[in-house]
Amino acid sequence: MAVNIEAYQSIKKELDSKNVVLVAVSKTKPVNDIRTLYDLGQRDFGENYVQELVEKQKHLPGDIRWHFIGHLQRNKVKEIAAFVHLIHGVDSLRLLAEINKQATRGNRTISVLLQVHIAREETKFGLDENELEEIVKSLSGLNNVAIKGLMGMASLTDDRETIRTEFRYLKSLYDQFSLPAQPALHSSLAIHPLPLTTLSMGMSNDYPIAIEEGSNMVRIGSLLFGARS
Ligand SMILES: *Cc1c(COP(=O)(O)O)cnc(C)c1O
Repeated sequence: MAVNIEAYQSIKKELDSKNVVLVAVSKTKPVNDIRTLYDLGQRDFGENYVQELVEKQKHLPGDIRWHFIGHLQRNKVKEIAAFVHLIHGVDSLRLLAEINKQATRGNRTISVLLQVHIAREETKFGLDENELEEIVKSLSGLNNVAIKGLMGMASLTDDRETIRTEFRYLKSLYDQFSLPAQPALHSSLAIHPLPLTTLSMGMSNDYPIAIEEGSNMVRIGSLLFGARS
């Protein structure tokens, strides 16, 4: 299936008007499909598999912002550390420490999102609220990672209200952990607020709900590139 240019242009226009970043999820799709959107101005692309990302990256322009949105194994971090723009799925302190190590080695800072488990399904990766707080408390010494925000995936369901409730919950955590405009708001809380900027939630079938619930970065694949086989 070919790239759906009309869908891209209308989604991009809608997202721009709402200040929501579009990450075009190109996993399993060929380099030529990525280039089609690149030529229309798209720069943020998301990939799930390290090997595939490394291979594609070699053949595409250097100003693409590559988002790693899959489950990242610690022993693979070094393969993408030199060029990755944002790692969305960080859900352990050990992974964060390895990203910090590889970033330090490459003399750069790597931006990451902490992944929170918001869906009903047991199989999804991600932190619960307590684990999130534990990580946020344990950041000292990790000077080459920048925690930019949170990422989550809603349940795979047709029940829009369930999806909305899950996104709303993630947004509430995001607000809770964000550095507030008025510091006094946080003075009574035990958590350590961070300068968060990015709430990555919403995919092809639920991104409008995600945006209504406060997302400012969506990860859209099949609406742009067609269904994956
Ligand atoms: C594949 C994937 C997407 C894109 O899914 P679509 O339904 O094709 O839009 C978004 N986020 C993550 C984490 C993914 O793995």
